[in-house]
Amino acid sequence: MAKKPTSVAEWAASGAVQRCIEPGCAGAFDLNERIYVCPRCGGSIEVECRLPAPRAARLLPKLWAARAASPDPCDLSGVWRFREMLPFGEEPPFVTLFEGNTPLYHAPRSAQYCGLADLRLKHQGMNPTGSFKDTGMSAAVTQAVVLGARTIVCASTGNTAASLAAYAGRARLNAAILLPRGQISAAKLAQSLDYGASVCEIDGNFDDAMRLIRELGEDPSIYVANSINPFRIEGQKTVAFEIMEQCLWQAPDHVVVPGGNMGNSTALGKGFQELLELGLISRLPKLSVIQAEGAAPVASLFASLDRRRRPAETRLPERMAPVEHPRTLATAIKIGAPVSWKKALRSVLRSGGRVIAVSEQEIADAKAMIGRDGIGCEPASATTVAGMKKLVAEGYIKRKESVIGVLTGHMLKDPDYTSRYHQGTLSLDAGANGSPAQAIQGAFRNAPARVAATKAAVLEFLERRL
Ligand SMILES: *Cc1c(COP(=O)(O)O)cnc(C)c1O
Ligand SMILES: [Zn+2]
Repeated sequence: MAKKPTSVAEWAASGAVQRCIEPGCAGAFDLNERIYVCPRCGGSIEVECRLPAPRAARLLPKLWAARAASPDPCDLSGVWRFREMLPFGEEPPFVTLFEGNTPLYHAPRSAQYCGLADLRLKHQGMNPTGSFKDTGMSAAVTQAVVLGARTIVCASTGNTAASLAAYAGRARLNAAILLPRGQISAAKLAQSLDYGASVCEIDGNFDDAMRLIRELGEDPSIYVANSINPFRIEGQKTVAFEIMEQCLWQAPDHVVVPGGNMGNSTALGKGFQELLELGLISRLPKLSVIQAEGAAPVASLFASLDRRRRPAETRLPERMAPVEHPRTLATAIKIGAPVSWKKALRSVLRSGGRVIAVSEQEIADAKAMIGRDGIGCEPASATTVAGMKKLVAEGYIKRKESVIGVLTGHMLKDPDYTSRYHQGTLSLDAGANGSPAQAIQGAFRNAPARVAATKAAVLEFLERRL
């Protein structure tokens, strides 16, 4: 077959395949096959990387850290500086906007709010288009270039679209985007338009858009960039490497993430698992996923699993009952039939983590608390802090344990939500299934005040606020 690999990167790339996750099938397919589900059994596909030998792996953390200070774009990217772990050759036609390398903040007020001694928040909203989607899109659009695709499509709740539009624009490829009409924040829509994508607003919800994408993906001229695309997961898993680098390769006790389509949780789980196999960490952090109550099919499924057998290898359920009319103001996770639920649930169970749901009020208040820490995030991201508060109250997360929450999107992605919360006018419309409209209390509201244009009036106002 191929010549003997001469570098770590070549070694890593040489043996990678696309593998069906169904244990009874385990079909293996070439990296250049344009597939999104297993052609044999319809199961989910993941990339199985040929990881470096553990002896070589010990040298990687130093190499990765050194690259972060290099002027070479391939080294500077928070995705491509980890290229030994990615299923691309030594010199891929990589498409980068300098994604990754995001901050890990201490969040003392949010910690106190949750009942934790300490809490750190990994802010993936600090990526080029303002969400974690960029790390995955850098890899997926690179794969599209490798395959010679001309048009890349995605269905999106907004952030995937913005990210695809930017990276496709960068690579001079066409991006076509299917958005559920009227359900996307103005900021996210504006991004896709500005980056030059063809935007189709469809009558239907995200799950309808997703079904269309599966049909479009059968066309050979089209490459699908949704998180069923296994190369996106490869790019997104680099956040796991960054987290461990920022923790000096000591795994924290818990990592908590929001769950929509569950691509992000799948990617984190895969990244941690690979580091464990390489011996770069000595245990897995418990990976917990938080959904919004109105769009929580995986949390419901998790609750139904046999508790006595958890966290030991619980058998993965075959099916998940979708939520017909997903309902939440956290639009980035308003998804009733998450495509990557099985891969994500497998990682959660393996790590001893949990999947739970939080209410709209809990999300809104947690978001305000993250704002008070001077950090801020979009609504979906705040499920992490809302979920932690609940998991601490249940005694599952202990006060002194080390906890990292992943913030998935930037505060300015959904300014309308934020200002309505602070002015006390935020509400969830009545649901299609008959559930009533719900007003959200701005428990930490901070409305602007009308003050006369005099020094005395301003001083008096400030005095009153203290
Ligand atoms: C996409 C997205 C999510 C959900 O991630 P999944 O991989 O679909 O679970 C959460 N928050 C934000 C801000 C997102 O853009
Ligand atoms: Zn299969």
